[in-house]
Amino acid sequence: MMNTRRFYIYTWGCQMNEHKSEGMAGVLVRAGYLPADDPAHADVVLFNTCMVREKPVEKVYSEAGVIALLKEKNPDLILGVGGCVAQALKEKLFQRSPAIDFVFGSSNISELPRLIEQVRARRALGKPGWVMAVDKIPDKIEELPFLRASRFQAKVTIAEGCSNFCSFCIVPYTTGLLRSRLPGDIIAEVRQLADQGYKEVQLLGQNVDAYGKDLNDPQITFASLLRALTEIPIPRIRFTSSHPQDITKEVIELLGEENNICEHLHMAVQSGSNKVLSDMRRGYTKEHFLELVEALRERNVNVTTDIIVGFPTETEEDFQETVDLVKRARFGGAFIFKYSPRPKTVAFYKYRDVVPEEEKQRRLEILLTLQKQITDEENRKRVGATVEVLVEGLARQKGLLMGKTRDNRTVVFEGSPELIGELVKVRITDGSVAGLVGELSPGPSPIRGGEPHDLTRSLSASGEGQGEVEGQGEVGVRLGL
Ligand code: SAM
Ligand code: SF4
Repeated sequence: MMNTRRFYIYTWGCQMNEHKSEGMAGVLVRAGYLPADDPAHADVVLFNTCMVREKPVEKVYSEAGVIALLKEKNPDLILGVGGCVAQALKEKLFQRSPAIDFVFGSSNISELPRLIEQVRARRALGKPGWVMAVDKIPDKIEELPFLRASRFQAKVTIAEGCSNFCSFCIVPYTTGLLRSRLPGDIIAEVRQLADQGYKEVQLLGQNVDAYGKDLNDPQITFASLLRALTEIPIPRIRFTSSHPQDITKEVIELLGEENNICEHLHMAVQSGSNKVLSDMRRGYTKEHFLELVEALRERNVNVTTDIIVGFPTETEEDFQETVDLVKRARFGGAFIFKYSPRPKTVAFYKYRDVVPEEEKQRRLEILLTLQKQITDEENRKRVGATVEVLVEGLARQKGLLMGKTRDNRTVVFEGSPELIGELVKVRITDGSVAGLVGELSPGPSPIRGGEPHDLTRSLSASGEGQGEVEGQGEVGVRLGL
């Protein structure tokens, strides 16, 4: 019976949440479940939620309404909600949406099969199915049997939580303080992925540059971890997110060396006004940020960013400072968000939400137009170059493949689907705001990668703006990343 049960996971939010969903999938597969290709074919649906902005929270309730309709046809269907929203709202979720059967915290992933059985047992006894498990010692990452959505690209969490407490951000309250994994465990995991034939590893942390600060050993830093990973025979290592306050000279130098660390850095600036940056408690100035960008540009690193418009203390002059910064930094891409007041944060209590919605929208559109123009110009500069591309899958355009350059630009080109998962050489023939267009170039035989997979659909569905672009921009606007 057990092995015929199927699950479907909706994921909202950043790559760290996508990776958490891989952990949930692994736990369920270990318990005998199989992934479903559609929630209508599932016995268990899980929502892995995000609370960084308000809109995704609303989306959780509207999607729960959709699942309620499925339950009318399949009364045995079980809906569980986990992630940040579950962690913060707990039993309030049941009150708002009766379709939800159980709520689990970020620390209770390994308990999923037991929680599901508990709901079933309660139902069999005619009791309400509501079950909650939120407060517990966190699961050790090493103990989660991740079912990776790709056989050639792997996400590896290096640290959970965040101790920065930016004034607008809910993350430290929902995920706790910085908890770095031990370097030996990370290195062993990456080595194992290399042995399994993975082509790319993405290291994840809310602020990767703070890695190790909680381990009380000055030898353990993000730079020392990266340096160790350059020794592992895996073609590509990426990481996200970097923080302008904590990134070190050593990390910037590693990005400029000939090694397996890709020339892309996602480093959120949030604002170009020193006053707003200070009110946001970001710990750096516009000038320092631009110096970092300059040092990275010298090393041909593609810098992408996050920006918030309409922070409560942002005046028109402050906004113009951000416009100026965007013109000078010439980001390869940006996620631009309208400020969203989050409970528990300093900005929520200190300032409330004072910039009117129409004004936030106006500022968003100005930055969007500007960033689109810059992305377009920067992509056009790549025409004529021959670049290494990791083929990620089929492009939206029929008959074409899509992949990513080392510096994280999207390329579409003609080729056989057999190339999915391989590293190929592509000559760039066109560039635009949408990305790069190219043609396969003869070169050394590509290394064979994994097969295309069928798990991704089950792992990441829903969320506004989910598409071929990776990142955190489900409510903001994604551009050229
Ligand atoms: N830790 C990363 C950093 O500081 O660079 C950012 C992680 S956060 C989950 C992703 C992005 O969401 C932030 O960079 C910020 O632009 C945006 N964000 C966070 N809180 C927000 C809020 N209250 N309103 C609007 N955008 C927000
Ligand atoms: Fe949030 Fe700031 Fe931590 Fe990023 S660094 S997760 S924005 S508190």
